[in-house]
Amino acid sequence: MTPVLSRVEAVPPGSTIGIIGGGQLGRMLAMAAAQLGYKCHVLDPNADGPAAQVSAYFTRAEYGDPDALRNFAGSVDVATYEFENLPVGALEALGDKLRPSTRSLAIAQDRAREKSFIEQTGARVAPWRAVSTLDEVRAAVDEIGPPVVLKTRRYGYDGKGQAWIRSGDSPPDVAWLAIGEEPAVAEAGVDFVAEFSVIIARWADGRHAFWDSPRNEHGEGILRRSTVPCGDVIALQVAEAREAALRIAEALGHIGVLTVEFFASRDGPVVNEIAPRVHNSGHWTIEGAVTSQFEQHIRAICDLPPGSTELVGRGAVMDNLIGDEVDRWPDLVADPRAHVHIYGKGEARPGRKMGHVTRVLR
Ligand code: AMP
Repeated sequence: MTPVLSRVEAVPPGSTIGIIGGGQLGRMLAMAAAQLGYKCHVLDPNADGPAAQVSAYFTRAEYGDPDALRNFAGSVDVATYEFENLPVGALEALGDKLRPSTRSLAIAQDRAREKSFIEQTGARVAPWRAVSTLDEVRAAVDEIGPPVVLKTRRYGYDGKGQAWIRSGDSPPDVAWLAIGEEPAVAEAGVDFVAEFSVIIARWADGRHAFWDSPRNEHGEGILRRSTVPCGDVIALQVAEAREAALRIAEALGHIGVLTVEFFASRDGPVVNEIAPRVHNSGHWTIEGAVTSQFEQHIRAICDLPPGSTELVGRGAVMDNLIGDEVDRWPDLVADPRAHVHIYGKGEARPGRKMGHVTRVLR
């Protein structure tokens, strides 16, 4: 596919950046933006979320509220989003102030569109079928062969909206019920050696930068740890994965940070999914790289020059604090080398990302 290039107006420090979504990614974006002298305006349906706590302005509104979005669009110089479960049509109100555009969003928020799009760029994905009835699920399992994972086309994250169909013990109808009988993709289980991500920042004129790829370890579908350097097995696959990530970013005409998650398989890198935004597996860049993913996203959407993505030490290890793990904060802050981030969320529900801790390897 031909790379999509565009011209955008630079947005100087002192301007206001709109952030749609008020979670921890918005919080860390707002903190990076503040360092560069920007003010942020967060739009989120929940009051007192992690991003609103550190932003100059806050609008409490549903993401699809047309009046709220029109006012929001009028009050910001540029806007971005920090998660993908957003109504694309309503966001059109932001026009070309929205970076990345709704194209990146529309593709990333629907797993079937996402997979066809990735295949069109020439990158490898696991064998998959779009399914919307139990019969189609059965047919897909027959064709692909177990293990198969069913993933809802929309609104899945952190392993939610997913159910496995393994041979014998887990019949298709149980998995179909478990994901709420919703349109889904049936995807071959990948026998991977490791998981990693490529995080790329791209500018409207095609400039781009990569960070070192982290090795990512998950538990119950949730990222637990990211480690840089990623180790030899993954390192051998990074060049090919970067080429794939760049082709995806170019075909989207993406402006800002884009994350592509990969399985390192015996046959080479297999794309799991893309996120049109900063990503949990890039949190280590705050202290572990010269320019963090958050600052770089702000630089790219405001059309400031790229910052260096070099490591500041030998690497970094980032551990998520999930659910009541955040209660360990007294021990963590007692470690003088640990960079502790607590997101300011209320209740520490199981599975909820409450913070993270990064240790830079010197
Ligand atoms: P996802 O929400 O799609 O990123 O899935 C969360 C995690 O589930 C991944 O990081 C993997 O650890 C696992 N997973 C998802 N899809 C597959 C697959 N097709 N094969 C093997 N593991 C998978």
